Amino acid sequence: MEQVNFMTWLENMGLSHPLLIAGPCSAETEEQVMEVAHALKKTDATVFRAGIWKPRTRPGSFEGQGGKALAWLQRVKKETGLLTAVEVGNAQHAKLALEFDIDIIWIGARTTVNPFAVQEIADALQGTEKIVLVKNPINPDLELWIGAIERLHKSGIKNLGAIHRGFSTFRKSKYRNIPNWQIPIDLKTKYPTLPIINDPSHICGEREGIFDVSQTALDLKFDGLMIETHCHPDEAWSDAKQQITPDRLIEITEDLRVRRDTF
Ligand code: PEP
Ligand code: MN
Repeated sequence: MEQVNFMTWLENMGLSHPLLIAGPCSAETEEQVMEVAHALKKTDATVFRAGIWKPRTRPGSFEGQGGKALAWLQRVKKETGLLTAVEVGNAQHAKLALEFDIDIIWIGARTTVNPFAVQEIADALQGTEKIVLVKNPINPDLELWIGAIERLHKSGIKNLGAIHRGFSTFRKSKYRNIPNWQIPIDLKTKYPTLPIINDPSHICGEREGIFDVSQTALDLKFDGLMIETHCHPDEAWSDAKQQITPDRLIEITEDLRVRRDTF
């Protein structure tokens, strides 16, 4: 697989390294999106994330605002200068994300497990210059993760990266999704220049562990963090327990030690 140099990738995008992506689990209302985005301007975040198509485990939960929220993300970019990132789960989502000029498109953990869905997304995104990030599948299967990345690569997408968000387990664990660090380390060993971002929010499932998981990721030379951030986390419509405020995000990033010598 032809590899993309992460430094060039970031430089071309005018982004800092390690990359900090932050924003709410879900775009709930235009006001909520704008409130978080403006608050994030005080932080080190350079990319705004928000889910608009939410793949929920059980029916009946909030499933996202859908395509209309793409205009809210465009407003975020215009008013704050933050780049935008959104999850896509099928070809239609992918086409809409391109149409609305979203900067970073990511494939969620529940989609990475499905080669048919990944292939359809890869076809819809064919040849795009946009950054496409692939979350690990929910199950601890490195080959399935690599396979999804390969499908996108074969579609002529060069600005590829991975997101490590932990793996489902039936065992009792302090984590919502156990990190199984060996799996992203193996990915990094196999593809040394493939950017890999850590998502401590979905690993922890609560606020407490986010600093420690982030620090471990930076110690392991991950290229960035994606952290769910909400101005009123307890009132969030999804993943309320794990979202942190922009002020807490500042505290966490101030305390993190980045091994600059390794970049
Ligand atoms: C998310 O990022 O909000 C999300 C749904 O993540 P995951 O695919 O990791 O569960
Ligand atoms: Mn979430």
